[in-house]
Order: sequence, then C-alpha cells, then structure tokens
Amino acid sequence: MSGERREEVHREIERLRELIHHHDYLYYVLGAPEISDAEYDALFRRLSELEREFPEFVTPDSPTQRVGGKPLEEFASITHSRAMLSLDNAFTEEDIRNFDRRVKRMLGTGEISYVLELKIDGLAVNLRYENGALVHGATRGDGFTGEDVTQNLKTVKSIPLRLRGNQVPTVVEVQGEVFMNKTDFEKLNEDRKRKDEPPFANTRNAAAGSLRQLDPAITAQRKLDIFVYGAFLIESNYRPATHWELLRWLKDLGFKVNSHVYLLKNIEEAITLHEEWEKKRKELPYEIDGLVVKVNEIAYQEILGSTTRSPRWAIAYKFEPTHALTRVLDIEVNVGRTGTLTPVAVLEPVEVGGVVVRRATLHNEDEVKRKDVRIGDWVIVGRAGEVIPEVIRVVKESRTGEEKAFTMPMICPACSSRVVREEGEVAVKCVNINCPAQVKEKIKHWASRDAMDIEGLGEKLVEQLVDTGLVRTIPDLYRLKREDLERLERMGKKSADNLVRAIEASKDREMARFIYGLGIRYVGEFVARILAEKVGSLEKLMRIKREELLQIEGIGPKVAEAVEQFFLNPQNQKMILELKDLGVRPREKKEEVVPETPLRGKTFVFSGTLSRFSRKEAEELVKKYGGEIAASVSSRVDYLVIGENPGSKLDMARQKNVPILTEEEFYRLLKL
Ligand code: NAD
Repeated sequence: MSGERREEVHREIERLRELIHHHDYLYYVLGAPEISDAEYDALFRRLSELEREFPEFVTPDSPTQRVGGKPLEEFASITHSRAMLSLDNAFTEEDIRNFDRRVKRMLGTGEISYVLELKIDGLAVNLRYENGALVHGATRGDGFTGEDVTQNLKTVKSIPLRLRGNQVPTVVEVQGEVFMNKTDFEKLNEDRKRKDEPPFANTRNAAAGSLRQLDPAITAQRKLDIFVYGAFLIESNYRPATHWELLRWLKDLGFKVNSHVYLLKNIEEAITLHEEWEKKRKELPYEIDGLVVKVNEIAYQEILGSTTRSPRWAIAYKFEPTHALTRVLDIEVNVGRTGTLTPVAVLEPVEVGGVVVRRATLHNEDEVKRKDVRIGDWVIVGRAGEVIPEVIRVVKESRTGEEKAFTMPMICPACSSRVVREEGEVAVKCVNINCPAQVKEKIKHWASRDAMDIEGLGEKLVEQLVDTGLVRTIPDLYRLKREDLERLERMGKKSADNLVRAIEASKDREMARFIYGLGIRYVGEFVARILAEKVGSLEKLMRIKREELLQIEGIGPKVAEAVEQFFLNPQNQKMILELKDLGVRPREKKEEVVPETPLRGKTFVFSGTLSRFSRKEAEELVKKYGGEIAASVSSRVDYLVIGENPGSKLDMARQKNVPILTEEEFYRLLKL
C-alpha cells in the first residue's frame, strides 16, 4: 500500500465523517434530514468499510462509534439507566454467518439459539415503569441521554399506562419502536401538502417528527403505534432466562409485541427468513428495513456485552441497500442505434443491491447539467426501478476542486461527423447514418434474441465485424463467407461455420421479428407484431401510408409517422431490397399456416451424420413443420437430434438437460 493511497483514504475518511456529522445533526437533532436514508446509509457504509480496512484511522468521535444525536434543548432531558444502543449491520449472507462465527468464538460454544424479529422502521424509545405505572418515556437521543417525551408517548394508545398480570416488576425500563402505519403516513402527507407544509420523506421521519412535538395535542392526532422488543430489569422478582421468554413476559404485562418472531436453531434459518421477508415486507401495514437477530440466552448476552455503539449479541440483518457511494472515473459518450449520443458515467465498481455497478447512464446533456456531475466527483448511485443503475446525486461537499466538468462533444465520438440537437429535443444526434457506432447498434439489435435471433452473433463479434470493415450494413451479414470469418481473431473453422449457418437460419424468421429487427423508431416488439399481423406482406408495408396505419388498432400517430418515414427513406428501401435479393424472406402470415405438428415452435440442433436424410433435408423438414434450427446447443434449444458420431454437442446437451432424440425418434416425430 503506497503512502499516497493511505493519505488519500485518510482524507476521504475525514470528509465522510464531516458529512455524516452534518447529516446526523440535521436528522437527529433538528429532525429535518436533507438526504434520504438510503443515501445516508451509502455514506455510512462507505465509511465503515474504509475504517474496517484501515482500523488505525478510527477515532472515538467517528459517527461509526456513536449512537444518534444530542437531544433537543426544548425538551427536558432524561438519562437512561442503561445506554440505548444502535445495531451493527449485516447485509449479506457472509456478514450474518460471520456474526454467528464471532458469537460462537467469543462464547466458546457451538450451541447457540437466536431470536429473529422484524426491524421496524421507526424510532426507539425507552419507557420507565415503577410499581406498574408509566413514569416517563424518552427518545434514544445520543444513547445516554434522551428527550423527555412522556406526555407525547401517553397519547400512543398501545403504550400501557399501567402494567397487567401477576409478574409486574417493581422497576423496569422497556424499549420499543414507535412507528406510523403506511396508510396513516400517506394520509398525513396528503394533509400536509394541502396545507402547504413539507411532506415527510418516510414513515420513520413522520413518526420521529410526530413524537418530538412540543404540543402533545399534535402528537395525539398522528396515530402513532409501538412494538416493544426489549427491557432492562431494574428491580424484579421475575427474571427471564431467554429473550424469547422476555418477549412472552412483555406481552403478558400488556405491551404490544410484534407477532412475527422466530426462535432459530441455527443462523441458516435467518438467511431463509431474510429472503422470505424481503419479498413479503410489502404486505405489512408498516415499514420494516430488515430483520434483527438476537442471541437468545440472556446469560450469553451479558457475556458478549457491547461496544460503544452496539451490542455484540444482536445484529440488524438489513435488506439489500438500494444506493451506494462511488466515484466517477470518466464520462463517456455512447452512440445508439438511432445516432443519439448518451453520456454514461464510468464508475469505480461498487456493489448496489447485490450487483456490481460499473457504469450508469446520465441520460442526456441537460441531465448532466442539472445534476452537475463532473469527472472525479463522488456520487450516490442507485438502481432505478431496481434495475438500471443511475447517478442519484453528487456529493458536492467532497469536491476538491480538481473535478472536470463535462461538455457534450460537437462531433460524434465514433465517426467524427457533425452532431445536431433539434429544437425542443433533449437528444443530441450524430447525422451520419453510416456511423460505425450506429451500425454496430443496428446490427446488434437485428441479431438480438427477440429480433432475428442470430445465435452466436454477440456484442464482441459485431464490433469485430464492423471494425474490420467486413460488415457495414445489415445485408452485409448475409454476404459473409466462412473464409472471411476465419480470418478474424479468435475465430476457429467451426465457429465460423456455425455463424454462417446461424445467419442462414435467420433468413426466414417470422415477419414480426423482421419488422422489429429493422429498428424503426417507436416500433417495439409489440407494435411489430401488430404490423405483421395487420399489414401482412413486406411489399405492402413498404408502401403503406400514414392514414392507413392510423386505421389499425394499437397504432398511434407517432408510430404511423415513424413507420412511413422509415420506408420512404431511399436508403432503407435499398436495404430491404438487398435483403430480399440475398434470400431474406420473412415468413408472412399466409405462409405461416403450418400444420399443427409437434415440431411447431420448437428449436432443433443436429449433430452427427444422419442416414435417412442429408443434414440440409432434415433442417428443411423442421422448418416446413414450423420448427426452428439453431447452430449450437443452449438452454433455449428444445431437442438435439443425433446421427452417427455426434460431436461435443451431445455432451453439451447432457450438461444443459436438453432432450436428445435419435434419428429414428426424430423421424417418428415428423410422422405424428
Ligand atoms: P438503525 O435504525 O439502523 O438500527 C438500530 C435501531 O433499530 C434501534 O435503535 C431500534 O430503534 C431499531 N429497531 C427496530 N426494530 C428493532 C427490534 N426488533 N429490535 C431491536 N431494535 C430494533 O440505527 P439507528 O442508529 O437507529 O439509525 C440509523 C439510521 O437512521 C440510518 O440507517 C439512516 O437510515 C437513518 N439516518 C438518516 C439520516 C439522513 O440524513 N437521512 C441521518 C442519520 C440517520
């Protein structure tokens, strides 16, 4: 490790601390956060990771060593009889297994049972009962001292003012999570919007904001609720031996304890439940942000003790984080199929929700400006709709002044042609329709699975074909010879053969695939299917007018315009004619009336020498009966037909569980 990198890490740690302190203050003290919890968690996680890697940089005042924030002065303060701690986090199976290992190692035993609870997303409170009566209640505050919110807590109907049953302790302090239901939260926010008040960002903030009101009458209107999950027994005859018994006892005393609690025999059960709850959490009427795993034996909890921030006997097993903090290494510009230039952030690889993210789209020039993303910036990335990674926000506080602003190039990065930005459009486009980047994208689209489905013609190969000049247009694909391909780097005789065959096999795909493959603006798979069905023939489609298209159900003015324009373009006409000359004849509807046979819609691969037919004859038969041919075995293939001396395809089929037919069996299938 170079001294320079250490210095850099140290600086980053300090910047993060400063930033987190700032957000802690806004959140815990003022109750007015400026960033979302997911964004905050991304900052916190990054700091924890760096501190784990460089423990020599940990300081006692680091946010990772502390709980919450100082109580507000407007409230009287209450010192907790025992520190109210936060929880350590686990995100992955590995983290939770490590927790289990650590616990077992420290206790020197392999026999541990755990209790698993839901992690309610609200705020922690401490309730003190003396002789069965509630005397005061406080927020967690900084862990040692909290705010006296007794009057407010008394408005929460599910908090007992008197304890019940025959095991009432003399003095006890009970901990629980005050929360707000999802529906009450939505109603509250609607109400606030109507009154021009800022809405709460989430149910947790709403609960905290409602409890930390100086006027208990306001709290009373807010429909808060509580789940109780722990207790410090100060003076009590009854002392439960396990956390499980403690929960049962709390329930008997009249507290509301969440019913989704599990006694686990081993940590693997926690992993299964985590998976289940990640899916089921939506169905709950309140928000949870994970599960909590606690050592069941109270004697063991006491041996394990706690750090300054969290107990060693419990851990929050959080759901997949949706945001992460990382750095923009560069901003590249991609040229798409239609020539649109899209800025893309190249990121220092980071894991977000279980996937390593390396690039994130910045959409367009305006968006880069709006978010003010610069090269070298620290950014929060999230997965939009939980799939496509995007830059959510720049952490401007971390700027050093060396970041470089991005400007959209004036020429296309792929072909150096002029680029234009049309009035009223956000997209900047390359005007050269022969632009290699556009050609590559067009060909990738043409060959893709839902279009012409040319097996083996992947991204890398398309790049090679265009870069070597072998392919400049879609029709060029159908002019490729085995000899041309063999000259390409990393291309053996066999792969060349397979590719030629796969291209050949694409010549008579269904019409809808052909239309989709053309990449007409606004024509996705669904619209392509409508066009294929309603227009019928390619000749007709080439001459169709906007008005006629508009008569078709499901076709709107934008699509009609785009389709007409596409076929009016002489270059596109030329391309389609060339394709026809080269033998590409999409199957039109009338031809598609194939007999209902077991081959219909099925994909076949042949291997070895057949005795009854030549390979070509067999393949033609498959097509005639509505099946398709693939060049190699993959999980998409329905049958491998083997003749004499089948090759490695047979092993592949076995490996992928693809059904294998002998020539005889195939023949029988034809006769069915
Ligand atoms: P935490 O919420 O991650 O975990 C500890 C807390 O979990 C406990 O204090 C308790 O209140 C709660 N909990 C819920 N169910 C529980 C159960 N069954 N058993 C035990 N405890 C249970 O940690 P934290 O220190 O309370 O809060 C940190 C969180 O606050 C961050 O993850 C962040 O999302 C949020 N935060 C946000 C900002 C911001 O600016 N947006 C700033 C600071 C903190």
